[in-house]
Amino acid sequence: MSEIENVVIVGSGPAGYTAALYTARAELRPVVVEGFMWGGLLQETTDVENFPGFPAGVMGPELMQQMRDQAERFGSRFITDQATALELADEPGGVHRVHVGGEILQTRAVVLAMGAEHRKVGVPGEELLSGRGVSYCATCDAAFFGGRDTLIVGGGDSAMEEAMFLAKFASKVTIVHRRDEFRASKIMLERARTVENIEWLTPYVVEDFAAGENGALERALLRHAETGEARELPVGGAFIAIGHVPQSEIVVGQGVSLDHEGHVLVDGRSTRTAVPGVFAAGDLVDNTYRQAITAAGSGCQAALDAEWYLRDTPLAS
Ligand code: NAP
Repeated sequence: MSEIENVVIVGSGPAGYTAALYTARAELRPVVVEGFMWGGLLQETTDVENFPGFPAGVMGPELMQQMRDQAERFGSRFITDQATALELADEPGGVHRVHVGGEILQTRAVVLAMGAEHRKVGVPGEELLSGRGVSYCATCDAAFFGGRDTLIVGGGDSAMEEAMFLAKFASKVTIVHRRDEFRASKIMLERARTVENIEWLTPYVVEDFAAGENGALERALLRHAETGEARELPVGGAFIAIGHVPQSEIVVGQGVSLDHEGHVLVDGRSTRTAVPGVFAAGDLVDNTYRQAITAAGSGCQAALDAEWYLRDTPLAS
């Protein structure tokens, strides 16, 4: 068993690294359990043009490297491995345990910043053809589909945004949505409707992604959500934009409250969870804004909340 740390941060997107930067500068010597795929979803993006301070834009992976370097400069320590389990103490000042690899870290405070992953449709061919025509990120992959017919699954703002981006490259983008009404905001829908090479197919669900002889995606099998009519759509690319699933599995059953989708619930405008000394930030908490800058902001809040908790709460005996 390790000595008792001040703070362990689980996760390494903008929320995790910002929490590390702030707690490191507060001389709390944070430990960041950053996972093997450190950097979070921004590692998948190309140009990030809306992170303040980069007037010419910055590549997602470079931004994450810089955040990591900045946190390291002030004494953050990184463990490039997955947290596999948590044992959270329920009393104020209690010692929490974080299982990493074969080791157990003991800590007075925990910042949860595990983020979210892309929701899967869960149909045959989806996993097999992921990276061979099926993608969860038009921003990352759209350029590979120049002149091809493509589809987007989803009816929210993400689907509209992805469709408009993809339409700059693809010959055609068909938005396939399971209802006739769209969850997307009016402004995003209206913008997407003005794009000539975007077509609309509702209410349809995808039942299967099928490969051609070369092993890459060749067509999607669809079904009308009401009449049950089957339909085939020849496509070289399929982009899934049906939301995100927070990565909160390891806190289930630990006293931390979750909403029906698995987002960690925090107290008011703070980052305090239902467990004393445990704070949460970033996409793990937020299904509304989901921006690098808002995640970084909440990582900063979690660091300050943790710092104040450590200042005000003696170690339980
Ligand atoms: P979302 O708003 O939750 O929309 C998810 C969409 O996927 C919905 O249309 C939903 O259909 C559909 N869906 C969910 N599960 C499905 C399944 N298993 N099979 C088929 N379709 C499925 O998610 P989002 O679009 O990622 O947006 C999340 C948040 O980020 C929103 O608050 C959004 O406003 C915000 N956002 C804003 C912008 C922007 O303004 N620039 C851009 C992106 C995201 P139903 O509608 O039938 O449930």
